[in-house]
Amino acid sequence: MKFFEHSAKKVFESEGIKILEGHVVYSPEEAMEVATEFGRPIVLKSQVLVGGRGKAGGIKFADNPGEALEIANELLKLEIKGEKVKHLLIEEKANIKKEFFLSVSNDRANRRPIIMASAEGGVEIEELAKTSPEKIIRYNVNPLKEFLPYEAREIARKMGVGSELISPLGSIIWKLYNVYDKYDAEVAEINPLILTDDGLIAADAKLEIENDALFRHQDLVKQNRFKQKDFAFVKLDGDIAVIGNGAGLTLTGMDMVTLFGGKPATFLDIGGGASEETINKALSLVLNYPPVKVVFLNVLGGITRADDVARGVIAALEANKWDVNIVIRLTGTNEEEGQRLFDEAGIPYEISLEEAAKKAVEMCNEIKAKEAGK
Ligand code: GDP
Ligand code: MN
Repeated sequence: MKFFEHSAKKVFESEGIKILEGHVVYSPEEAMEVATEFGRPIVLKSQVLVGGRGKAGGIKFADNPGEALEIANELLKLEIKGEKVKHLLIEEKANIKKEFFLSVSNDRANRRPIIMASAEGGVEIEELAKTSPEKIIRYNVNPLKEFLPYEAREIARKMGVGSELISPLGSIIWKLYNVYDKYDAEVAEINPLILTDDGLIAADAKLEIENDALFRHQDLVKQNRFKQKDFAFVKLDGDIAVIGNGAGLTLTGMDMVTLFGGKPATFLDIGGGASEETINKALSLVLNYPPVKVVFLNVLGGITRADDVARGVIAALEANKWDVNIVIRLTGTNEEEGQRLFDEAGIPYEISLEEAAKKAVEMCNEIKAKEAGK
């Protein structure tokens, strides 16, 4: 299974490899917000599982928030080698002095892991292998023995880098091998590893895990699947964020809000997901959308059970210490248990859709009246 760059980078970082601060965005507006927060030039990177995004026009730079909005809009319409771009990773634009290539993969012919490294990073390795194979250092690791830091430094030395880089580069090679080993990877790759004033940083990250070993890395798989999933999210011009589990239900929620005189700020269909992670993501998406004053979560338990949704909501609210103006409507399969959980957690809820929509509109009006009174 292949992992998106941003997921791979989190894994690399957890093993001590430096990455750039980054944010994943799903819309041009979010891209603009992130660019504003950074307050300096950024790079916008299409998150797809195919390689060669740079060449395909999937990596772009923006100097200001306005540019970020425009470019994100373009990138989110892009299809790279048949794969639709659904989200972008935004990072601060790095000042690159030099680019290296590092990878650890399976060498089937030799039945051992192989480390490949080159001081000529950035370009695709297949290309480099064709044009100047002598520039790629290859090193087979004995999987029965521990891979030692001095071996990694030896590889760095062979890459022909300055003496000051041998130790830091060796350290990253060693860490990358550990990622490969620990995560049952088929490929763990950094191309380019960049040299900046802040030292060596993984500017790109590729991670592919052996399918047969995925059961050992469920957390990572969940994260990746979730990111791949189409989370139908539309920003509107009102102030009540409508979230529902299912497109029809979400639309009904919006209609009800409108009927009682409110204006929806979002259409967000969370689909069949009820996990804490899904609810977390849904809430943070809408809470990061500035016009939102009230969240209206409309849940009808079907295949997704109401009590599971309740658990997801409670966990998400508690984990983030979120103090949200939220109206929850909860009915359907296992509603008694879900409602009991909410009662226990002290979270109010409604059963009737009309009541819930009405309450959301009233809550929003009260907030606006208070704000106007200030
Ligand atoms: P790939 O084409 O899918 O491998 O995407 P990469 O993440 O490797 O990016 C392609 C190229 O964009 C890199 O080789 C860099 O030259 C350039 N690039 C990526 N991030 C940055 C950055 O932060 N600053 C600068 N100056 N260039 C970048
Ligand atoms: Mn790359």
